Amino acid sequence: MQLKHCFFALVAASISSASDICGTPTPTEEQVWRAVSLQAQDLNAQDRDISLVNKTAIEINVLQDAFKPHNITFKLGRGDVSVEPKWSDNCMERQMKQRLQKGTYADMNVYFFPSMACANSEQLPHNRLLGYVTDFPDDKTANTKRQILDAVHVRADTVPGGKFENFDMGMTLVHEVGHWLGLFHTFQGGCYGYGDGVSDTPYEDDTTADYYSGTCNRRRDSCTTPGLDPVENYMDYSAE
Ligand SMILES: [Zn+2]
Repeated sequence: MQLKHCFFALVAASISSASDICGTPTPTEEQVWRAVSLQAQDLNAQDRDISLVNKTAIEINVLQDAFKPHNITFKLGRGDVSVEPKWSDNCMERQMKQRLQKGTYADMNVYFFPSMACANSEQLPHNRLLGYVTDFPDDKTANTKRQILDAVHVRADTVPGGKFENFDMGMTLVHEVGHWLGLFHTFQGGCYGYGDGVSDTPYEDDTTADYYSGTCNRRRDSCTTPGLDPVENYMDYSAE
């Protein structure tokens, strides 16, 4: 399966620009995104906001690698880099998407935010919220009239080389895209629930509880049903 397009948007409060002592023109947004598409790898510039653009390019490779064994690939569409402080904490989601959202339900829009102060979560406090999707696909098709909010949202510091402790290898995007494609959490409904909806995923009583410490108990077995807890499944909460 190949999705029609995957559009990426990096929303930032500021991007540093050293234009005082250099005559090189400031690149346009289109030029910046072209650099992303070329998958430039700038792991040495981790402390500059601009490096987030390059980390996002690496993140796209992580996403492709994670889904490729399942015959799902993503065709990269256009990207936007928006330096817009009032959007950067996800507090003006609808207004932002009216400007940036692209495509139909066949296209996946992905937003990277510095913070998610206004995102709702039943599971985690805002400062631990890594990402979310607006809705599951249900019976939507490419021809279904699209809700403006439909998208994948990820904390920008969870991309590879990011600074979110224990979640800095890019798997947050893989997890959220799993939701966007219709997967639930592995612990959905506990030992006798629905799980992630995949028949060979063992049940687990609750989410892996060690995401704060970064440890991972691979022998955890919280249900009497067959199989150890799927702590290495992308749809669990286990640390990376
Ligand atoms: Zn989730």
